[in-house]
Amino acid sequence: MKPAPFDYLRAMTTQHALDALAQHGEDARVLAGGQSLMAVLNMRLAQPRMLIDISRTDELNSVRVDHKAGLLAVGAAATQGSVEWRESLRDEVPLLAMAFPHISHFQIRNRGTVCGSIAHADPSAELPLVLAALGGDVMLRSKKKHRVVPAGEFFQGMLMTAREPDELVEAVRFPLKRPGERYGFTEFSARHGDFAMAACAAVVTSDSIRLAVGGVADRPVVEQWPRLRDEDLRSALNDLSWKLGAQDDAHISAAYRRHLVRQLGWRVIEEAK
Ligand SMILES: Cc1cc2nc3c(=O)[nH]c(=O)nc-3n(C[C@H](O)[C@H](O)[C@H](O)COP(=O)(O)OP(=O)(O)OC[C@H]3O[C@@H](n4cnc5c(N)ncnc54)[C@H](O)[C@@H]3O)c2cc1C
Repeated sequence: MKPAPFDYLRAMTTQHALDALAQHGEDARVLAGGQSLMAVLNMRLAQPRMLIDISRTDELNSVRVDHKAGLLAVGAAATQGSVEWRESLRDEVPLLAMAFPHISHFQIRNRGTVCGSIAHADPSAELPLVLAALGGDVMLRSKKKHRVVPAGEFFQGMLMTAREPDELVEAVRFPLKRPGERYGFTEFSARHGDFAMAACAAVVTSDSIRLAVGGVADRPVVEQWPRLRDEDLRSALNDLSWKLGAQDDAHISAAYRRHLVRQLGWRVIEEAK
């Protein structure tokens, strides 16, 4: 299928994009890497009248480390590849470095943006899961205001977020590696690069476990425990697997998804390094 007709605007500055969003609101969509949006348009799941292309908005193409604030800030036009291929990423945000290779193939990551994946909010996507696991946040900007929304409030359901129609996801911020934290990431998919049927990210310290699960509920779900071990951990993972409300779908059963949560959850916590 082909998309319904639309007007196209290439925003050369952030202000240009914000003005267009203010003017067109619900009738507009931001075009970043186009790796999710073009499929949505081709299937006519959305029929916006205006596409606002930010892929060449230089001011938004930034990746900055703020050591004082302890954050890695990724601007809206920065591709997933431009973050993944930073030599220092493994020291800055190890969990992000672990997750990137699971996102499709490098051709997709070469065009797709980090902010686009967060804005799209696919429950199986890796980047929302990492942002939720680390307790990062989303910087939203409209013509009228700026606001910062924690990941836990930003993701509101399948492809649903706290973003208003006139807001741009200007940047997302991932907390830098904190002393004493160890990390784990794993997922299960039919083939390497496919969307995850279940994915787990863990942040483990000597006295706590934070486990985030994607691909099961309608958004990433984060659970915080003390440093559970053995049967206590198995029992907590079993409770979580039921709490997520797994559903049968064309690929796997709800029971198998619960099994994946228990197995992958155990593995990432044990392997956190
Ligand atoms: C074959 C294939 C396989 C894939 N596999 C995976 C996978 O395994 N895991 C995974 O996580 N992803 C996967 N993806 C999706 C990929 O990661 C996308 O790049 C990403 O989800 C969206 O980023 P984008 O920059 O392409 O956004 P776009 O497609 O341009 O936009 C996506 C949505 O977000 C909105 N948006 C984008 N940027 C902003 C912004 N700054 N402010 C407000 N709204 C914005 C758009 O309006 C649109 O609604 C796959 C894609 C393809 C084509």
